[in-house]
Order: sequence, then structure tokens, then C-alpha cells
Amino acid sequence: MKTSKMNPGKLLIATLTLSLVLASCGKPAVQEKAEDIKTQTFSNGETFNYRVLDGLIISDDIIVGTEQEFSGMVSKYEEILVARQDPEAQNNKVSPQGVGIIKNCDITFFFTTCQDSRWKDGKIYYSVDNTFTQTEKQSIAVALADWNMRVTGVKWIYQPAAANRVAFTRETDPNACGHSSIGYKGGVQQLRLQCFSQGVVQHEMGHAAGLFHEQSRCDRDNYVTIQWANIKSGYSGNFNKACGNTVSDYGAYNYNSVMHYGAYGFSSNGKPTIVPKNGVALSAIGQRVALDAGDVSALNKMYAAGTVKYF
Ligand SMILES: [Zn+2]
Repeated sequence: MKTSKMNPGKLLIATLTLSLVLASCGKPAVQEKAEDIKTQTFSNGETFNYRVLDGLIISDDIIVGTEQEFSGMVSKYEEILVARQDPEAQNNKVSPQGVGIIKNCDITFFFTTCQDSRWKDGKIYYSVDNTFTQTEKQSIAVALADWNMRVTGVKWIYQPAAANRVAFTRETDPNACGHSSIGYKGGVQQLRLQCFSQGVVQHEMGHAAGLFHEQSRCDRDNYVTIQWANIKSGYSGNFNKACGNTVSDYGAYNYNSVMHYGAYGFSSNGKPTIVPKNGVALSAIGQRVALDAGDVSALNKMYAAGTVKYF
């Protein structure tokens, strides 16, 4: 299978290190078969790698949408590609303020309605499935309470009947710790879990609030070196950057982000796939303990920046 090649200008983003999450919850790093990975190729040559799980289109640990939605998303992204070439459309865009590893409808068809991808007033409504054990529910509750205590701009509010909400549901993929959509999708969107450390739960919550992986930042090449030769076949797209005039990085690069891949994510040969620069140790990236202070600040900035309109 052909894998996507890195290109700094490319807007297709990809995602997290499955093996990293696996490591963080103590599960064996079972390697996915490359043939399970499908590739969507766009008219401009960009590629998007994904797989299908329970009717969901998944790129690494990010739920992109449902199988039913997928063709519409591809069409929408092709429209965006055309609009990008229209200078008038470009001028009508309002770039996001602040940062983030976030906000990029332009970057990818992860977003079909970009202006709605943040939760209104910073309120994320949620429910928790009864399939979780009491202990698991407690772990989720601890992650939620810690978030609500520290993140002032985005709050999780238990409202199991809300029409638009995050539903904490059990992950069915034996090889994954969890999956989540990025940002607000509308309707009931799943946040799937089967690992319950605070860092893993808050990592997926970070996606649901709108965060991408830290090493997807446009400025990441100043801070890390991607070792392309060590990435297993079919997964190089997970190391793409999010760059473009509608994409912003929030604050300074954060090696200690709970959203950062670990050094060995998607390694084919046991060697690092991400090597920090500036004398930073390999072990300094990929923590899954909890939201870092920088993550908290990025979330607050993202939600203080107001509504962003695209096209
Ligand atoms: Zn992730």
C-alpha cells in the first residue's frame, strides 16, 4: 500500500501513536496489519489513511466520522481544495486567533463545518454508558473533575439527555486504548475508552474539546525530528503536520503535552520515530499522566478566541 509522504505544506493531518497509548495503559503494542489501512487520495494528490471500526472512519485514535458520512466529507474536502485556489475565498477567511493544535477546518476533512467545531460557550455535555464498571466510572470521574478544576474555559457538564453531547462508551477494538472525534460534531459523539489512566482519558477528552496531537503543530520541526525510516509501513501519514493560513499553534511547543506522541510511536524496528531537539530526552515526550499546564493554557486560549469563520 502506498503511504502518504510528508510535505510541510500539506494540510492533511494525522494523528496519535496508537502504540504510545497502548504503552501508557500497559497493553501489548499489537501492531495493526497494514492491509487494514485504507487510503483516500484527493484530487491534489494528498492522501488520507484510515480504517473502519464499528461503522466509524478512524485515523489512529481519532474518529473522523461514520462510514455513511465519509463520501460527503470527501466531497466537502474537494470543495475546500477548489476554494483554496480562489483568491477571493481566501480573502474572506478569518484566521483563528491564538493558537492551537487545533482549529483547522481547512487542514483536513476532519472538519466539515468548521465554525461549529468548538463547543458553544465552552460547555461540553456528556453521558457515561452503564457498561463501564464502578471502578472505571470512578476513573473517568477523576479525570473529569481534575479537568473541570484546572481548565477554566472549557467545562464538562453531566447531561445524559443532551441532544449534542459526548458519550463515554466502551472501546471495542482490543488493540486501542480509546478513540475520539476532534471538537464538536453535533449529535451524540462517542469517546471510546478501555484504558482508564487519567492521562489517557484526558488525552481523548482533549481531542473531543478540539486539540490535535502536539507534534502535528506547524512549527514542530524546530522541536523534533521525525525519523521517517523507522515508521512502519502505512503509518507515515500519522506524522503529517497541520499547516496553513487557518491553522494556529497555541503558545509555545510543549514536549510535556498529554497530546504529544511518544518517541517510539508507530516504530517498525524498535527505534525512535520522534527525536526531540534541543537536548530534550526521548523519555520527555509522550506522558500520559494528566493534562499538562500547557495543555490547560491551550484549551483556555482556544475557547477564549471566539468563533472562527472559514469560507
Ligand atoms: Zn490522540
